[in-house]
Amino acid sequence: MDGFTCSRCGEFHGEFPMCFGAEFPDFYFSVPPEERNARIELTESLCVVDEAHFFIRGRIEIPVTGSNELFCWNVWTSLSEENFIRVNERWNDERRTEEPAYFGWLQTQLPGYADTLNLKTMVHTQAVGIIPRIELIEKGHALTQEQQAGIAWQRVTELVEIAMHG
Ligand SMILES: [Zn+2]
Repeated sequence: MDGFTCSRCGEFHGEFPMCFGAEFPDFYFSVPPEERNARIELTESLCVVDEAHFFIRGRIEIPVTGSNELFCWNVWTSLSEENFIRVNERWNDERRTEEPAYFGWLQTQLPGYADTLNLKTMVHTQAVGIIPRIELIEKGHALTQEQQAGIAWQRVTELVEIAMHG
């Protein structure tokens, strides 16, 4: 799709973004701004708070029904310390795709859904340089159902409008 007339603002948006994301795990904001430098280690893909809370950035892909398109949310999940160490040890290892999936709690509140914090997920490691794929395994949540069943273009448009305008 090449743009759309937005029901929120009435304007024509020339771009139709299929990917939205969070720069930080929500836990990041629990640390006061003046303490973040001292307490948080952050890269584009990994985050550690107080050397005790471990997070990784990944991508929730939602198939769009009747097309080959994917709508995606870039999100953060927690990881156990053990798995976080594994991730780091294998970061540049071509065989890291053989890693078992890691359990994680979703650490991003997504617009357009009821509470998405701490939903159960599995983190699937991809080839070196590729963001991990996040699989929702929380039973009964709309996000899990949408990932499993796919969503119609109408729902994509709704999510895009919410993501762009809050
Ligand atoms: Zn708009």
